[in-house]
Amino acid sequence: MDEVIKQLPKLAQEKHSGNKKFFGKLRKKPPKDLDYVMQELHEAEFRKTDCLKCANCCKTTGPLFTNADIERIAKHFRMKPQKFIDQFLRVDEDNDYVLQSVPCTFLGADNYCSIYEVRPKACREFPHTDRKKFQQISNLTLKNVAICPAAYNIVEEMKRAIKLK
Ligand code: SF4
Ligand code: SF4
Repeated sequence: MDEVIKQLPKLAQEKHSGNKKFFGKLRKKPPKDLDYVMQELHEAEFRKTDCLKCANCCKTTGPLFTNADIERIAKHFRMKPQKFIDQFLRVDEDNDYVLQSVPCTFLGADNYCSIYEVRPKACREFPHTDRKKFQQISNLTLKNVAICPAAYNIVEEMKRAIKLK
């Protein structure tokens, strides 16, 4: 897995222009069964991908934290939300709360998340490849394929499975 992760930014760069064209067409005319196709591709990929051997999302980007995430995680630590913010978070250029630093503070050396049960919604949903109306998050996906080997494979499978004119 380490070698795959190392190669991923270069591979994603090579595919970028083709992926951009594909998503441009997908946005214009998404197939009627796109939600179903994405669910199938997502499940097939995650049957063979073990996130515990990877954790590249936790190591390189980290999630944004919604207010509900902050309240839930602060409660888990029996902290006041503001104290949690001061200790772990910063506001980014989009005005979202994000981690002060990556790899994520809550990631263990064994790639387990120490707050798994209460982790942010964005962590639960990453890489969003089973999201309904997937064509709407194509810009995010174009970035995620350079971080997440599963997202990269899913997009490659999408291009094979979905024929667009
Ligand atoms: S979601 Fe993607 S980047 Fe994150 S651990 Fe799983 S395969 Fe790796
Ligand atoms: S909170 Fe957990 S799942 Fe989310 S980035 Fe940190 S270690 Fe990964």
